[in-house]
Amino acid sequence: MTRKTRVRFAPSPTGPLHIGGVRTALYNYLYAKQRGGDFILRIEDTDSHRFVPGAEEYIIESLRWCGIIPDEGVDENGKIVSEPCARHPHAPYRQSERRPIYRKYAEQLVESGNAYYAFDTAAELEAARSAAESAGQTFIYNYESRKHLRNSLTLSKEETERLLRETTTWTIRFKMPEDTVVEMDDMVRGHISVNSSTLDDKVLWKRADELPTYHLANIVDDHLMEITEVIRGEEWLPSLPLHFLLYKAFGWTETQPRFAHLPLLLKPVGNGKLSKRDGDKLGFPVFPLKWVSPEGEVSRGYREDGYFPEAFINMLALLGWNPGTEQEIFSLAELVKEFSIAKVSKSGAKFNPDKTKWFNKEYLRMKSDEELAALFEKDLAGRDVVASHEKVVGIVHLIKERATFVSDFWDIAWYLFKAPESYAEKDAAKFWKIENVEAASKVVERILSYEGAWVKEDLEKDIEEFIRANQWPMGKVMNCLRLALTGCGSGLGIADIVIFTGKEELGRRFAKAKETLNL
Ligand code: GLU
Repeated sequence: MTRKTRVRFAPSPTGPLHIGGVRTALYNYLYAKQRGGDFILRIEDTDSHRFVPGAEEYIIESLRWCGIIPDEGVDENGKIVSEPCARHPHAPYRQSERRPIYRKYAEQLVESGNAYYAFDTAAELEAARSAAESAGQTFIYNYESRKHLRNSLTLSKEETERLLRETTTWTIRFKMPEDTVVEMDDMVRGHISVNSSTLDDKVLWKRADELPTYHLANIVDDHLMEITEVIRGEEWLPSLPLHFLLYKAFGWTETQPRFAHLPLLLKPVGNGKLSKRDGDKLGFPVFPLKWVSPEGEVSRGYREDGYFPEAFINMLALLGWNPGTEQEIFSLAELVKEFSIAKVSKSGAKFNPDKTKWFNKEYLRMKSDEELAALFEKDLAGRDVVASHEKVVGIVHLIKERATFVSDFWDIAWYLFKAPESYAEKDAAKFWKIENVEAASKVVERILSYEGAWVKEDLEKDIEEFIRANQWPMGKVMNCLRLALTGCGSGLGIADIVIFTGKEELGRRFAKAKETLNL
């Protein structure tokens, strides 16, 4: 029987979601949607020491901003579902609320001989660790050392039962088999085999907080939630043998999910994993949204930096997946159609902040003038600028090719909305020369009496013909006019500017420049 595809994104709320995590969520989503399957969000918060307030909400909001909407786990109000219902049959989706579920599974493994109770105190383990270190070794709780430690394999049944009753710091550990080759298949990495003797006896459940560790909770929940594929970051690859052995120990191999471990996101320069420090150093965010830590430390986000979610997602999709064609621009719907785990690379993907900007520029260009004008109007409102919608649409049309972000619009075209308050000294020294100013004055007069069609092409032609007929130096006169209009020597064409500011404003700005920059 073929099972319905069900995949999950299972972050731990230990801080803001790194863009690598967003990519994992995205690949899971694409994989599910391509197959008409379900994408589930599950919060893995069993490690209470690492819990960070606000991180869960941040994860949900990040996915929402990206358009990666879970089918299960989050309700319409953006909250993690706690009570089972038709749409969310496996609730709760927060592991801390699933606490009562796990103990019996851990006990089941003890009964079947795949796990045991361990009573070693933290101090005893520390002593074992330092003893090993002074002998030049590293301490591992494994098939060898467990024979000499305090656990249900070495203690009598009576003593074990007494300790279970009377103490509260014991744990249940997985009994890693000795010298067994674990054979595994990964959808990205192919066949992998590992000898179990290299692995340790991981803690599965802790009496102290009555909580499972990541490994147990993850396997139990993937089983109960009928997950068919586990698509996650490469950092989990070392856990794969244990996970395979856990499925075997539970007798769940028939329905065991397939695994795909995604390549790391690498630093733009040098080697290693992309970190927040790289972003700080090179000036780009590594988080989808701005994050303020409980200590008040602020981290930039792609949303607040002005990226379009479609551009962000498109960029992320191509970090590790190669469509095998030249195509670079993919909508989410196209990604759903084209994505394939078979084309995910084994090696890490270098993050490229310039390429990320390039994607945003491309998406900005693809947006309609109307849509961009609406966004620009929000920015203008914050600057107390009043302009007709028609004017804003016209300006956006004129400048959108020059912008990467909507926030660039103001920097490119602020002088179409207000007069300059000062003049760049260097440019003034270069362009505000007596002979040019005289010629420019005549051009201003000409424009003031211009009666042709009020369109850029006609006005431009008229100005240029006039300058040429008088044999004035075109560039110099234009720069002189531009200085009066914008306060510096660079910017849009004179006709473009005047069309939006109007003739009278040109007159006013030129008079003001003459007064301020008197020669
Ligand atoms: N909770 C793990 C994490 O934070 C999930 C790993 C997995 O997907 O199995 O990444």
